[in-house]
Amino acid sequence: MDRILFNGKVVTMDAEQPDASAVAIKDGRVAAVGSDNEMIKLKNDKTEMMDLQGKTVVPGFNDSHLHLLDYARRKEHINLSHCRNMDELLDTIRRGIEKKNPRPEDLIIASEWNDSQLREKRFPERADLDLIDVPNPIIAIRRCVNIAVLNCRAVEMFSDALTYANSLKEDNAEVDEQGNFTGLLKGNVAISEVTPLLRKDQIKNALENAFEDCLKCGLTSVQTDDVTAAELEDVLEVYEEMDRKGELPIRINAQLRMPTLDIFQKFLDKGRKTGDGSPFFKIGPLKLVADGTLGARTAAMMEPYADAAETEGLMLYSREDIDEFVETSLKSGMQIAIHTIGDRAMKMVLDAYRAGLEKYPTADPRFRIIHGQITTEELIRQYKDLKVIADVQPLFISSDQPIVESRVGKEKAKYTYNWKTFVEKGIPLGASSDAPVESFNPLEGIYAFVTRKTMEGAPEEGWLPEQRLTVEEAVYAFTMGSAYCSFEEKMKGSITPGKVADLVVLSEDIFSIEPENIKDVVVEKTMVGGKILYSA
Ligand SMILES: [Zn+2]
Repeated sequence: MDRILFNGKVVTMDAEQPDASAVAIKDGRVAAVGSDNEMIKLKNDKTEMMDLQGKTVVPGFNDSHLHLLDYARRKEHINLSHCRNMDELLDTIRRGIEKKNPRPEDLIIASEWNDSQLREKRFPERADLDLIDVPNPIIAIRRCVNIAVLNCRAVEMFSDALTYANSLKEDNAEVDEQGNFTGLLKGNVAISEVTPLLRKDQIKNALENAFEDCLKCGLTSVQTDDVTAAELEDVLEVYEEMDRKGELPIRINAQLRMPTLDIFQKFLDKGRKTGDGSPFFKIGPLKLVADGTLGARTAAMMEPYADAAETEGLMLYSREDIDEFVETSLKSGMQIAIHTIGDRAMKMVLDAYRAGLEKYPTADPRFRIIHGQITTEELIRQYKDLKVIADVQPLFISSDQPIVESRVGKEKAKYTYNWKTFVEKGIPLGASSDAPVESFNPLEGIYAFVTRKTMEGAPEEGWLPEQRLTVEEAVYAFTMGSAYCSFEEKMKGSITPGKVADLVVLSEDIFSIEPENIKDVVVEKTMVGGKILYSA
């Protein structure tokens, strides 16, 4: 035996043997799970013994949907998340620029502003940014990553890119009555036109930096859509090369955003499909984005927004387009995962899933809906019926709770973010952060699942408190649930003999402390494939 962990509280997430005090590890895998006495019998002179001193051990966490590369890139941006009014926002950008000491032509990117948090309750505008007296082009991106504002210099610099974005879809870049760009960008098409993608050499550095942060919070697997930060082929090449050289410390499942059928077909023509790869790097699902976000009122709704009667949000694809993506996926062994937030978008995606399956019956397609916020009772029935996986983001509770009722009305809000209902109905739940939109610390996610409160602890009794998950359910979603999302539940997700030895030692027993305190629990050790890669 290579290593034996003993004297702990091991919560395995395996129904066959839910609790134990010791784990034996050999060749990077769990060899046995049981009592201290049972495991110590397996010891030989080469075995390294590790006394857990009563600490709690859970399977390594798995984030079922985030943007790892974008997270890494965002660390370079000027962060506006703390700003509470427009002056503070502008001052933060000014100070950030001073610190960077850029050349006059360098693009300055500030991100994470949130208008609902600003005293003025409005988006910053070009005129606001123009008050910052620098020659640099400036972009200020909203925390949802779907809205951005440019200063005058940036509008000039990117006018061709904005014209191009509007040729793809009118209104990507807002135009005033005189036909000039106002500087307001909507949707990630326009925003990605003005934010430069990372080159291959930059990708590797950025990832290495992000991996460290993942290990610190116990993430041993991530399912990542990196196309927001670099070209898909570049990203895949970097991951595959790192995998070949044994340089990936955590397990990557790549969610491939291929927004057109043409790009998708070219990828398939290379003979690649979901599940290809190694234990550390796998091709994941085709990822599509069907609509926008609730915050920006671009999520596609059945009815007009309660707080903006002129809009019902926007679908980024027609039903026919989605049908074609679904059918092509089913024919070619690709899983499909679609960003879907509004109920109109969700109905369309679920209908397309159903129709695709009727045409191409598939035993275990594991269709996924990423986000799936604005559900109705009927839509939840459809999830159940089609065994659709819900990739949900518990920390959206913290960010969205203040706006859900105003966006969709009190009555409809009751059926949104209904995750306990999902669990009760047996709808598979994967847990994720959508980082950099939210923090990818799973302990904060578990806190939000269990308390339904914001990070500041509001409201007292939790939002829709009947939808609170138990700690076990929340941990299950972040481990087994997420492993199921990527067809990897037989290889990881629980502390089970034969599975990879990915596990986390926690500073406190999250199963018995006050749920309010779970967000402050820290990871003491993270083990991946039997190796301790992080130690507090
Ligand atoms: Zn996302």
